[in-house]
Amino acid sequence: MMSNQHKIPQATAKRLPLYYRFLNNLHIQGKSRVSSKELSDAIKVDSATIRRDFSYFGALGKKGYGYNVEYLLGFFRKTLDQDENTPVALIGVGNLGTAFLNYNFTKNNNTKIEIAFDADKRKVGNTIGDIQVHHIDELEDHLDKISVAILTVPVSEAQNITDRLVDAGISGILNFTPARITVPDSIRVHHIDLAVELQSLVYFMKHYPLNDDED
Ligand code: ATP
Repeated sequence: MMSNQHKIPQATAKRLPLYYRFLNNLHIQGKSRVSSKELSDAIKVDSATIRRDFSYFGALGKKGYGYNVEYLLGFFRKTLDQDENTPVALIGVGNLGTAFLNYNFTKNNNTKIEIAFDADKRKVGNTIGDIQVHHIDELEDHLDKISVAILTVPVSEAQNITDRLVDAGISGILNFTPARITVPDSIRVHHIDLAVELQSLVYFMKHYPLNDDED
């Protein structure tokens, strides 16, 4: 995906979509320059980190002048493959899956859910947010052009569906189930457990209260 990924530290690479989204909005508003301070205030990443990240992209901000929005956007677009569309499959059209189908991922980037699958006959054949829901039995018939899947099935189904996705040639899975799924080394899994994230937020609020003096 990212051709020059090997040169960029992973922590920096993870911030690329965040930078891209913000700069794209600035561009739409007609802004041509942005300072690291402005960026820092908006996306809550400290400005020293932003300056270090941007130096990896060959973008050197000038004092009192800031960064060139157009240049950075061009870089991000190329690096994040924004000129290419990445079709995504969604498995499990429950509450969460339905919300994702209705959410317009293409607003700020070029990933788009193209197809959805569910085991429930009442959901099969429905169209949600212009995406058609197919029966899970047909999974393997529809994945030839798709390399990324979002998993929103019940936890008990997660591994079985993962194995089928892997066998069908999927190479990236965004796992929203609490299951710790097992995949071959060549498959990238990003795990988002909303319940854990929420619990962790509450824990940090309680035990590590922020105060204005802190960075
Ligand atoms: P959530 O809020 O977690 O999305 P929910 O409570 O609406 O879900 P779940 O029981 O978690 O429902 O199931 C999520 C969706 O996954 C449902 O639409 C269900 O029909 C679907 N599902 C269940 N088993 C499978 C399977 N083997 N393959 C595909 N979809 C499945």
